[in-house]
Amino acid sequence: MENERLLMLPGPVPVPERVRQAMMRQAINHRGPEFGAAYAESVDVLKDCFGTKNEVYIISGSGTAGMEAAIANFGQGKKIASLVNGKFGERLWKIGQRCGEATAINSEWGTPVDLDALAEALENGAEMVTMIHNETSAGILNPAKDVGKLARKHDALFVMDGVTSVGGDDVRMDEWNVDVAIVGSQKCLAAPAGLAAVAVSDRAWERIAEKRPFYLDLAAYRKNGKNTPMETPYTPAVPLFLALAEALAIIKEEGMQARIARHHRMSASVRAAVAAWGLEMFPTLDAVSAYSNTVTAAKMPEGVTDNALRGTVKKMGIEIAGGQDHLKGKIFRIGSMGAVSAPEILATLATVQYALRKAGVAGVGDGVEAAAEVLDA
Ligand SMILES: *Cc1c(COP(=O)(O)O)cnc(C)c1O
Repeated sequence: MENERLLMLPGPVPVPERVRQAMMRQAINHRGPEFGAAYAESVDVLKDCFGTKNEVYIISGSGTAGMEAAIANFGQGKKIASLVNGKFGERLWKIGQRCGEATAINSEWGTPVDLDALAEALENGAEMVTMIHNETSAGILNPAKDVGKLARKHDALFVMDGVTSVGGDDVRMDEWNVDVAIVGSQKCLAAPAGLAAVAVSDRAWERIAEKRPFYLDLAAYRKNGKNTPMETPYTPAVPLFLALAEALAIIKEEGMQARIARHHRMSASVRAAVAAWGLEMFPTLDAVSAYSNTVTAAKMPEGVTDNALRGTVKKMGIEIAGGQDHLKGKIFRIGSMGAVSAPEILATLATVQYALRKAGVAGVGDGVEAAAEVLDA
């Protein structure tokens, strides 16, 4: 293994050697052909990750900058219905409140989004819907296709955060009627933190706000994206762009379908371990929601502290995530996104299993074997 510490978090994830090397270059001109080619090639692969023919723009800023760009350019002054069933859904709603008139449609974190309430909000004139595709804080995959259908039926724009699904799970922006989709670099793409990418539909462009932010003005990104060589409006984080281009070259080599299948297999193996340990998954599902294929959230067993579990695992050099906000100490989350493969998964599960047994949890079965069986299939 390349790293002395293993990050099994839902971002940031370990960055392959090739990608790290790409950041070490001497500076290049961001108005030159080499940068333009790296940007264009990145956009090409990102389109495949997003499942879209739409143009994609890369922003210097973390995933949240992408979220803000989406809402500030297309949601300004609009009535926004924000589906919230976790931390990131709440964040999109809060951004919506700054830019427009956003109303949260709340579900308990980790329970399905409320499609009936959404239909009602749309009937009452909501012009934009926001949703997190893969709600990282709760390990739940939300029904993008159904939400897209509803939004389109009422002629509303659909903004979808795909920060922990794009590049790891099946995403079909065009087929699902998504108007603006967002990804961050340090999650499934396995690139360093600090970049976001935003894909925009023609319908969204037709409705772009008059009064837009300056640095995150997507119309400026669009205009400069058409230049030869391809450019960003202002000086981008060039080393990160070069690293992202390399990470995307790896994705192209693997192939999107193979990459999705790998993410499905890895997360299925983690779920098998959780079941064998006798623990409960955190999400509550319905017919259209699913467990995340990139991060697994399980309930913390009774009487086990966050420190007893994650602290022990950390001592062994492996970092898994805890719960956010009111879920602190109530759940733990194992990321399985990016370049992750069987050795990292098995080492992590063996260590978590050790920590569970050490903490005195009764009846902890062999999760490592259960996971290995999935990986071996
Ligand atoms: C990580 C994440 C983000 C963005 O967070 P940043 O820290 O700004 O990169 C947004 N949405 C989801 C679902 C995420 O998991």
